Parts: sequence; structure tokens; C-alpha cells
Amino acid sequence: MNGEKKEFIRVCPKCGSDNTTAGSLLIQSSSCFSYCKSCGYEGIFPEVEKSKVEKFKKMLRRKR
Ligand SMILES: [Zn+2]
Repeated sequence: MNGEKKEFIRVCPKCGSDNTTAGSLLIQSSSCFSYCKSCGYEGIFPEVEKSKVEKFKKMLRRKR
């Protein structure tokens, strides 16, 4: 049995929030395009492995 399933979630590249939604209607066809409910960023969102989201957020913080 393969018990481990990798889950990917979209994370905002600006604030690191995973509180995202699909982009505006015009560009909904583009699957990578999302909108961040936290900071209002709209654009291409990287998909991050769920277990690595915290790491991703730390990286974002270090940049500032
Ligand atoms: Zn954001």
C-alpha cells in the first residue's frame, strides 16, 4: 500500500498565505492563476508541497 500522498497547495508568493481563490473570470482558464485573499496579490501562484509550506513562508520572511 502506498500510504503517503503528497499534497500540493497554492501559496501566495508575496505574503505566504494559502488563503487563495481562483483568479478573475477572464483568466480562470489559466490554472496557475489565483488571487490572494490576504494581501490582494493576483498572479501566478507556486504550488508548494503541504509539508513544505512553513519552510516556504520562512523563506519569504527572510527576503524582507
Ligand atoms: Zn498574499
